[in-house]
Amino acid sequence: MGNDSQSSCPYCKKILQKCPKRKTKCIFCGNFIYVRYRPSNQIKKLVTEDQKNEIENEWNIYYNNQRKKEYETIAEEINVSRRENLMQWNNFGVLKVEVSSADNSCENCKKQNGKIYLIRDAIRNNPLPCKDCNNEKYGYCRCTYLPVIND
Ligand SMILES: [Zn+2]
Ligand SMILES: [Zn+2]
Repeated sequence: MGNDSQSSCPYCKKILQKCPKRKTKCIFCGNFIYVRYRPSNQIKKLVTEDQKNEIENEWNIYYNNQRKKEYETIAEEINVSRRENLMQWNNFGVLKVEVSSADNSCENCKKQNGKIYLIRDAIRNNPLPCKDCNNEKYGYCRCTYLPVIND
């Protein structure tokens, strides 16, 4: 598409005298023209209202994916630090750990709260992250292990 198509009305295709910079009403057909660009192609285009809604949707999906990636990174960091704690306590001779869920953990994770594992089982079987975690916002809960002090 060349410059001509960019300065014509996306509804009636008539050539506009000035390429609009923001929402404008077409002087020929009276429809509202919007100026938008897509996440996949960051060139501003004149679009119809339907296309504008479609593009808004694309941006929502784009931002959701970005956020998901960030959450996955955080979840991975939590996994690593949980594992480091287990190894360290194990080296210090701790025998058991207790699962501690957070106040904003999902229901399934809260069910794990207070569960006690032998530390070597926790290291081998990785009960955290909880397999049934259904945290809708982040996709993970911040459950941790606490060392159980040996009697
Ligand atoms: Zn028009
Ligand atoms: Zn959870």
